[in-house]
Amino acid sequence: MSEQIGELLAPYRLMMTPGPCSIDPRVYRALATPLVGHMDPWFTEMIGEVQVLLRRAFQTENRVTFPISASGSGGIEAAVVNPLEPGDEAIVCVNGNFSERMAVIASRVPTTTIHRVEAPWGRTVDPNDVRKAAKGRKIKFIGVCHGETSTGVISPIDDFRKVADEVGALLVVDAVATLCGTPLNVDRQKIDLCFSGTQKAISAPPGMSPITVGPRMEEVLRSRKTPVQSWYFDLTTTMNFWGKDRTYHHTPPISIVFALREALRIVFEEGLEAGWQRHRQNQLALVAGLEALGIELFVPNEKDRLPTVTSVYVPKGVEDGRVRRQLLDEFGIEIAGGIGPLKGKIWRIGLMGYVSQAKHILFFLAALEKVLLDQGLSVSPGAGVGAAIRVYSHAEPATVGHRS
Ligand SMILES: *Cc1c(COP(=O)(O)O)cnc(C)c1O
Repeated sequence: MSEQIGELLAPYRLMMTPGPCSIDPRVYRALATPLVGHMDPWFTEMIGEVQVLLRRAFQTENRVTFPISASGSGGIEAAVVNPLEPGDEAIVCVNGNFSERMAVIASRVPTTTIHRVEAPWGRTVDPNDVRKAAKGRKIKFIGVCHGETSTGVISPIDDFRKVADEVGALLVVDAVATLCGTPLNVDRQKIDLCFSGTQKAISAPPGMSPITVGPRMEEVLRSRKTPVQSWYFDLTTTMNFWGKDRTYHHTPPISIVFALREALRIVFEEGLEAGWQRHRQNQLALVAGLEALGIELFVPNEKDRLPTVTSVYVPKGVEDGRVRRQLLDEFGIEIAGGIGPLKGKIWRIGLMGYVSQAKHILFFLAALEKVLLDQGLSVSPGAGVGAAIRVYSHAEPATVGHRS
């Protein structure tokens, strides 16, 4: 080949998607840390700090808390293949793409019966429907997606915990899009197994899925009669590395562990509660701006709206792909389109971690106004930015994410 392949020069992007999101420069620096072997005593000690930080993020004292070497989908896989044994029945609440994924993965475990309790995309599953589905059955676990990023819907964990208690089931929660972005307290909310993803509100690169296993779930895993079908995702053996023995299981993505540690340090410099507040506040400003431009929210009930992902209908008169392409080419801003049945119908705007800052929201709204005007929509320039500014004008800079 005669043609030289040049140095990698990636464009700078503001990633306002449901993941991955843009990350703090400090996290990039941590990512560039020279490698240290995963069996090196320095490394095996350092990962204890990552586990301490993860327990704080999940708000738990669970011994079994560590990042799985896999994306968020690997977290889903681990969460469902570990508790399920042949003959078991489980319920998965399905109201979007990722909860659907949990049901699909669980259904692949041989000789199990997975009951799906569904709700239309854009809504939450009715806990009462779960109660009805569980009636007269022995249900191993109820699976819920806390923040459905395909639609921008948040589900009320406590209501599902109540049903799980009534029917004697464990509660499994997908917190990929919510951990560090919205209130979540694993111990107080009695979640038996909870997992997340590094590239969402934690604001680290993709590649790991933090998971935490409560005492009741741990007991279920320990008393399994059959081996877990997946060798890689078998939590009891992976824990040999992340537990006190630190014995080799597989090689973790060492650089991502460094990045995760720094991202979590940033989370706790601000404080979890302050971070939740910031995500909420910035979403309110974004929503005010979008509504002022005449853009309609996809999730009708305000209380169901996921603070980390706002979904809106693509306005009539513009084309989904062209708007997103111009935002990218002209302003370096990436927002996401719809997936599955919502392809071409909605936009999903992620405000996760580092992205959730007033300066990013104001920049995005200004860019969107320009693009919509160019694409032939009659918006009044400044209307969206103005509405967001009115939300921000009384807010303390720190509460909307201003960093020095
Ligand atoms: C992004 C996401 C996942 C999947 O994570 P990947 O890292 O893409 O595998 C799962 N669940 C939810 C709620 C998500 O937002």
